[in-house]
Amino acid sequence: MDIRTALLQGRQLLEEAGIAAPRLTAEVLLMHAIGCERAWLYAHSDDELRELWWIHYGRYLHERLKGKPTQYITGRQEFYGREFRVTPDVLIPRPETEHSVEAALELAREARSIVDIGTGSGAIAVTLALETKLRIVATDISERALRIARGNAARLGAAVDFVACDLGYALRDGAFDLVVSNPPYVPGADKENVQKEVREYEPHVALFGGLDGLDVCRRLIPEARRLLRPGGVLIVEIGALMEQQMRQLLAGWRDTFVKTDLAGLPRVVVARRPSPPAVS
Ligand code: SAM
Ligand code: GLN
Repeated sequence: MDIRTALLQGRQLLEEAGIAAPRLTAEVLLMHAIGCERAWLYAHSDDELRELWWIHYGRYLHERLKGKPTQYITGRQEFYGREFRVTPDVLIPRPETEHSVEAALELAREARSIVDIGTGSGAIAVTLALETKLRIVATDISERALRIARGNAARLGAAVDFVACDLGYALRDGAFDLVVSNPPYVPGADKENVQKEVREYEPHVALFGGLDGLDVCRRLIPEARRLLRPGGVLIVEIGALMEQQMRQLLAGWRDTFVKTDLAGLPRVVVARRPSPPAVS
């Protein structure tokens, strides 16, 4: 079988199974099986598929048809223009999360210290380290996630200090100008409505924030208040229906505003830690 036919057949199988973007997925899986770039694939579409490539491609198609996300098959996801390694120990970084990075970069000009709480693959922390040249601190409760994050930082040459702890509990009071977080916020009550790919393959500790999705945020906000110097800023990614509840949880914070994502949905909340009242 030649490469063109292999692509066509893969695409048809994926399409019949109702997999999104079947053509692109077939291409990515075949590129991964061969270990080549897209340009090579198209320059060699009349070449015979070698047996080993065929075996790998068949296995990847099978995994994808069962529901495994493409990124866990290839072990990669692009984020903010860089390639991150991902395994089922970490959430696959989402394009929406780039809005939190943008918000952080706007504020980072005046910042000296930034912490990313719940770093997962390290997507936010590594990006901020490389874009700002500041040294970044990043935490996660999952040691397995931190192992992946450390690998990403090393591979991409980012200076990040990784700390295994619940939220920022191992870190000092008032040590940061910026706290950034994409916490787990999917409501447990929605578990059955979450895409099968997500529910069955991504780490639940990265996704679900209790019954209403806000359990981690309820603890994160006071924790960020402790970690930030007076006037420091919290940037947190939220789910589309969480804006009002987050505004309530942030009562007493200053300059609170919400950024929408490309779909026009509320996605990032930014709020400034109030200064403590002057002691008279
Ligand atoms: N920052 C990454 C990103 O944006 O792609 C991963 C975000 S994922 C939604 C949430 C991360 O928070 C997971 O890596 C999870 O292990 C971590 N996490 C969950 N609960 C935590 C807690 N109490 N303390 C620290 N990290 C936590
Ligand atoms: N955006 C992810 C999803 O769509 C959820 C990530 C999170 O909980 N922070 O499933």
